[in-house]
Amino acid sequence: MTSSLLPTYARADLAFERGDGAWLTTTTGERFLDFGGGIAVASLGYSHPHLTAALIEQGGKLWHTSNLFEIPQAERLARRLVEASFADYVFFTNSGAEAVEGAIKTARKYQSVSGHPEKFHAITFEGAFHGRTLATIAAGGNPKYIDGFGPKVEGFDPVPFGDVEAVKASIGPQTGAILVEPIQGEGGIRVPAPDFLRALRDLCDRHGLLLIFDEVQTGVGRTGKLFAYELFGVAPDIMAIAKGIGGGFPLGAFLTTREAGKGMTVGTHGTTFGGNPLATSIGDAVLDIVLAPGFIEHVALMGLKLKQSLAELKDRHPGVIAEIRGEGLMQGIAVRVPVNEFAVAARAEKILVIPAGENVARLLPPLIIGEEEIAEAIKRLDSACLRIERERDRRVGMEASVNGTPA
Ligand SMILES: *Cc1c(COP(=O)(O)O)cnc(C)c1O
Repeated sequence: MTSSLLPTYARADLAFERGDGAWLTTTTGERFLDFGGGIAVASLGYSHPHLTAALIEQGGKLWHTSNLFEIPQAERLARRLVEASFADYVFFTNSGAEAVEGAIKTARKYQSVSGHPEKFHAITFEGAFHGRTLATIAAGGNPKYIDGFGPKVEGFDPVPFGDVEAVKASIGPQTGAILVEPIQGEGGIRVPAPDFLRALRDLCDRHGLLLIFDEVQTGVGRTGKLFAYELFGVAPDIMAIAKGIGGGFPLGAFLTTREAGKGMTVGTHGTTFGGNPLATSIGDAVLDIVLAPGFIEHVALMGLKLKQSLAELKDRHPGVIAEIRGEGLMQGIAVRVPVNEFAVAARAEKILVIPAGENVARLLPPLIIGEEEIAEAIKRLDSACLRIERERDRRVGMEASVNGTPA
C-alpha cells in the first residue's frame, strides 16, 4: 500500500486497534505482548482506567487556554514534581526534544546572566540521544541524524560515555554545562559505573558548570526509582523528562533549581501548547498511580525478576544472547545476531521489543506488569531464540551441503 506519511520510518507491517494492560491487539485480531511500551511511553500500559477517566473528565471540560492564563492543572502537576524531586520549577513541553532543548537554553541563559555569555558549550557523550531538533541532534552527535541538515548547532563537545578523564580534559573557558543521560537508552541501555555521575557532579561544582540530566527515557519510575538520578545518589541542576509522564499523551517538562533557572524570566521562553489543561491533567493522573505507596517498589521488584529471568535466558542461549544490562524495567538484551533479526523473531512469537545501539534489544514494558507477564515474555523470547538457532542451523546445513560435506 502506498503511504502519504513522509517515509522517515521503516515500519513493521502491523497496525494496532486497541490495547489493554501490556497487550496490544492488531486490526486483524492478533494479540501482542508489548515489552516496548511505545518506547517507554505507555508507562501504565494501555486503557488504564484511571488515565481514561482523567482524559474523559478533563476532555469534557477544557483542553487548551494558552499560557497567557493561569492553568491550575499545570500548577498542581508542577508542585507535585517539585515536591518529589531536586527542583524548584517546572516548564511543560510537548515532547522530549523540546524538554531537552529548554534545558540547554536554561543552562546557557544561566551562564549568560552570570556574566559568562561565552560559556554556552556543553560537554556531551558519545552514544547519546537527546531528540531530533537542530540543537538536540547536535547534542546527540550521531552523524546519521546530523548529516545533510546544514551547519551543526555549535556548542556541544562529545567525549566517551563513562570517561571522567576525558570530561576533565574537555572542560575549557567556553564550557558551561554537562548534559548526560544517567543511563543511555537509545545508545543501547548503557549503565555507567556507579561513581560516574558523582564525578560529573564534583566537576560541575568545582568549575561552576550546570549538570543537566536527560531523563526523558529513565524518568518517572522506569528504573525502579522515581528518577534515575536517585539510583546514583546525585542530583542535577536541570533535568528533562517526557516519555513516561504522559502515559501515552504527549507531555514533557524540564525541571530546574531556582539558581540554575535564574535567567529564565518573563518572555525568555515559551510554548503555545505546552502544559495545557488536558495534558497536565493526564500527567497528574499518571503521578496518582506512580506516587501511590508501593508502586515504585513494585517496579523495582519486577525489574529484579525480569533481570534474573533474562540472565537464565542468556544461559540457555549463549549463542544468541551476549549480555543482559539495565536497571528496573529498562533492560537491554545484547544479542549476537543483528538486533533487527532478533526483533523480527520476537515479533513472530508475538512479543514486541525495541532495537537500540550496540546491537541491544530494549525491554521497556509498562510499569504495571506482574510476574505473569514477565513469565510469558520470557517464554516468548525463549521461543524467539530457538527460532534464531534453528534458522542458523539450517543455514550452516545448507552451506555444508553446498561445500559437499554432510550436514
Ligand atoms: C526519546 C528521547 C528523547 C526525545 O524525545 P522526543 O519526545 O522523541 O522528542 C530525548 N532524550 C532521550 C534520552 C530520549 O530517550
